[in-house]
Amino acid sequence: MRLWILIVLAMGVSGGFIVGPLQAQEPSEQKWKPDGKSGALPLTDFRPRTMLKNIRVTDLAGAKYPAIDVHGHFGRRLRGSDQGLVDFVEVMDAQNIALCISLDAQLGVNLSDHQKYLEPFENRFAVFVHLNFQGDGAAKDPASWDCHREDFARRTARLLADAKSQGVCGVKFFKQFGLGYKNPDGSFIEIDDPRWDPIWEACATLQLPVIIHTADPAAFFEPIDQFNERYEELARHPDWSFYGEEYPTRNELFAARNRVIEKHPKTQFIGAHLANNPEDLKRVSKWLDRYPNLVVEPSSRIGELGRQPYTTREFFLKYQDRILFGTDGPWPEQRLSYYWRFLETRDEYFPYSEKDPPPQGLWQIYGIDLPDPVLEKIYFRNALRVMPSLRTKYELYRKAN
Ligand SMILES: [Zn+2]
Repeated sequence: MRLWILIVLAMGVSGGFIVGPLQAQEPSEQKWKPDGKSGALPLTDFRPRTMLKNIRVTDLAGAKYPAIDVHGHFGRRLRGSDQGLVDFVEVMDAQNIALCISLDAQLGVNLSDHQKYLEPFENRFAVFVHLNFQGDGAAKDPASWDCHREDFARRTARLLADAKSQGVCGVKFFKQFGLGYKNPDGSFIEIDDPRWDPIWEACATLQLPVIIHTADPAAFFEPIDQFNERYEELARHPDWSFYGEEYPTRNELFAARNRVIEKHPKTQFIGAHLANNPEDLKRVSKWLDRYPNLVVEPSSRIGELGRQPYTTREFFLKYQDRILFGTDGPWPEQRLSYYWRFLETRDEYFPYSEKDPPPQGLWQIYGIDLPDPVLEKIYFRNALRVMPSLRTKYELYRKAN
C-alpha cells in the first residue's frame, strides 16, 4: 500500500516542527512533494479535508433560546473599540444572545471605565471584577505586591462591597491565581492560602458568585513531545506549557481550589471551562456531587466536550441544573454557530473553531442534541438562578424579541 502522506515528527526536518520550543510561526518551505516518497510533510502543512459526504450540516440562525453568556472578555478582546462593541451587539442580536458578562473590569482600577465603555448597551451586559493582587508594586518584585500587605483581603472585601453597590454581579479569578502570582520568597501564592478567606467570605455575604479559572488543559502539563496531543499548539505557544518542576501539578491546583470550595459552602463558585477538566468528566461529576456550591460552564472547551459526545451528553443530562452557558468570547458568528450545533444538533464531525489551524487540537467534534428543557436551563435558567440580579435585563430582552 502506498503511503501518500508521511508525517515525521523528528529533529532536523527542515522547515517543519521540531520537538522543542520554536521561535517562528512562518509557514514551512515546501520541500516535500505530493507523491508520498520524496520527503516528509511537516505537521505545520497538514490540513486534511474530510472525505465524508452527505453528513448533516445544520444551519442555525442563533441559540434556540435567548442565551446568557457568562464568560466574556470585552476589555481584552475589543481593546476599547467602540465600533467593535457596536458590531458585537449586532452579532448578539443575530445570534440570540440576550446578555453577556464581561470579566475584564479590575477592582479599584478600571471598574467605572469599563462600565462606562459598556454603558451604551448597559442592558445587554453585566460586569464581574477581578482583583488587583499587584497594586502599586513592581511586576517583577512580588515582595512589593499589595496582596502581601497585612490588610489586603479586608480592604478587598470593602472594595467588593462598593463594587456590588455599583452594579457588579460577580468576581473573576484568572489562572495566574495559582500559576502566576508569587510570594516574596518566589513560590507561587496558593489558591487555598487562608489569607484570602475574608475575600471568599465577602463574596458569600455580598452574594457575588466567583468564576474561577484554575489550572489549564491536561496537555499543557505534559512534555511538549511527540506524544502530546496538542503538540503543534504548544509548539506555537511554548509559554503556555506548565510542565516541569517549577510549576504546581494540575492535581495540586485542583485540590487547592476544591479545598476553597469546600471551606466556603456559602460562596457560589462557577468552574470556568468545565472546571478546567473536560478531559475527565467523571472527575468533574465527583466534584459536582461533592460541592453543591459549584456550577460549571463550557467556554472554550467544546473542542474537548464535542469529541466525546456520548459521555458529554450523559454528563449534560445528569448535571443539567449545574451548567451555565459561556463562550470566552466575543467571537465571530462562525464560532458561535459551533456552540449551537454542539449543544442542539446531531451534526457529526464539524470544526469547533473558525481558526486555521484549529487552536485547541487537530480534531473535529460532534453535536450532543440536548432536549429543549435542558437547553433552556443551560442557556438562561441556571444563570438566572445563580445571578437573580440579571433577571431585569434578561426580561427586557425577551420582551423586545
Ligand atoms: Zn476567559
